[in-house]
Amino acid sequence: ELAGVTELLLSRIRDVPDYPKPGVLFKDITPLLADPEAFAALTDTLADLSARHGATKIVGLEARGFILGAPVALRAGLGFIPVRKAGKLPGATLKQRYDLEYGSAEIEVHAEDLAAGDRVMVIDDVLATGGTAVASLDLIRRTGAEVAGVAVLMELGFLDGRQKLERALDGAPLEAL
Ligand code: AMP
Repeated sequence: ELAGVTELLLSRIRDVPDYPKPGVLFKDITPLLADPEAFAALTDTLADLSARHGATKIVGLEARGFILGAPVALRAGLGFIPVRKAGKLPGATLKQRYDLEYGSAEIEVHAEDLAAGDRVMVIDDVLATGGTAVASLDLIRRTGAEVAGVAVLMELGFLDGRQKLERALDGAPLEAL
């Protein structure tokens, strides 16, 4: 059954060469989002995985992790917590800086949204270098919460994101559909 779902999901992802810059093969999930059968299959699969790994909260990574994470949270009956790029959250936040190929970026979370006793599943569309996901784990752990795992629709295998993220996960699962 999972094989059938994977086929369906794959068929709804559009490869866009040289976007947003030359040499990048962009994985566009908008055809999947526009297909209610595929979107529901993805949501159900991610919600099942989150339940299986004992998650009590869903974190979505801006921006496509919001689109996927919110319905997953509803389906799993869990709260949704946004991890945003710096400067977008109005309350007291924890911030985490991380390196990009050129320069650095910063993400943040509302400090009051997570605490010791929470088990967090992190959701995003694409795992590339793993930099964003690793930074989100640091952020989550600094609140006292535990990481239940990371679940993504796709991983770009040639970038070694899995290796880097698995070190940071420290035994927690990485699920890539
Ligand atoms: P990274 O921190 O390198 O793992 O990058 C992850 C973030 O960038 C994810 O939130 C993705 O949405 C986005 N991203 C990176 N590479 C791609 C790609 N080739 N196609 C689509 N999105 C990507």
